[in-house]
Amino acid sequence: MPSIPGVSQEEIRRQNLGAVLRYVHLNGPTSRAALTRRLGLNRSTIGALAADLTASGLVTEEAPTTARRAGRPSLVVSPRSDRVYANALSIEAERLRAARVGLGGRILDLREAPRPGGMSAVDAVRPLADLVRDMERAVAPDALLVGGAVAVTDTTRDPDGRIRIASANESLGTALEAEFPAGPGFVAGDLADIAALAEHVRGVAAGVDDLIYLHGDVGISAGIIVAGRLLMGHHGHSGKVGHMVVNPNGLPCGCGSRGCWETEIGEAALLRHAGRDPGDRAAVAEVLRAAADGDPRAREAVERVADWLGFGVGNLVNVVNPDAVVFGGSLRDIFTAGADIVRRRLDTMPLPVSREHLRLQPAALDENAVLIGAAELAFDKLLADPLNVGVAGPAGSADSA
Ligand SMILES: [Zn+2]
Repeated sequence: MPSIPGVSQEEIRRQNLGAVLRYVHLNGPTSRAALTRRLGLNRSTIGALAADLTASGLVTEEAPTTARRAGRPSLVVSPRSDRVYANALSIEAERLRAARVGLGGRILDLREAPRPGGMSAVDAVRPLADLVRDMERAVAPDALLVGGAVAVTDTTRDPDGRIRIASANESLGTALEAEFPAGPGFVAGDLADIAALAEHVRGVAAGVDDLIYLHGDVGISAGIIVAGRLLMGHHGHSGKVGHMVVNPNGLPCGCGSRGCWETEIGEAALLRHAGRDPGDRAAVAEVLRAAADGDPRAREAVERVADWLGFGVGNLVNVVNPDAVVFGGSLRDIFTAGADIVRRRLDTMPLPVSREHLRLQPAALDENAVLIGAAELAFDKLLADPLNVGVAGPAGSADSA
């Protein structure tokens, strides 16, 4: 391999191991021959790297089951999803979820508990930890936990149904450490940011480096990816697009301001326009179903929200100029039901340079996007340095064919 001044052989090997592991993590089982072509490394290098990853218990290498051709078949390298995993947690507006996600992005186990109205993110750590401990009981002794991440929404509902914006929560890390004193620890991130990451890595925006992901549930927020990197802002609090004021004469918002975008496109707005009482996800789903069935009031509510949705997106694309806007959470359903109306705004509001190349798309991943995204964060360390992330355990069970 060519030597690059200032970069040691060890560093190059680490980067190459990471590249091979990342490739099969994102693309699934891949033959050595295909890895050689796609990663631009020579055949013997790929062979040595794959052998190291196999010996560490991170991948398996097996002869392909199909395609018999003359000569020795190229071994297929697969991530060991069953053995190598991350703990992915989410603190959502109305529920708490914990998943074990295997290398390769496969959900191996998933548990859920309700988040009662008024429960703070810090108070949610204990019930989440119970879910994790419950899952861990079913884990094989040779399994390898490589990291953890938690996705947190800052919008919650009080017991009386009022929407509240939680203040920045610096003590979440301390609470997580207290519950999980051993092991690789947790990183925390904003829920919309993490769902954006999932769509960017494995979803509808795979390969798109400039995108706005809009997430709707009780509140509205965005994960904005610019040049392939998440826009973070001070302490990670960027993307609060739900509090962009779009209607100065509008309704008061949970943040203390008036006429925020959230008051026009949030779940509460949809229910209000449909003439329903404030409610939960089930109530929102009911309105969307009624609209699809042709109920005029529900249809009108969806159209009104879709128009405001297009209005806000029109402003955002002028600022960010993304290649794609992806609609997730409840906004996925609003967009799907009212895409024509959203597009009508987008056809006229933004500058031509901001709209001509723009794709508007519903999220491809389901409600598990946030767990898949959290796992991606948790796998980061392993993928950067595969042989140095706690692989000391019962590794290398020699599964090679
Ligand atoms: Zn607001």
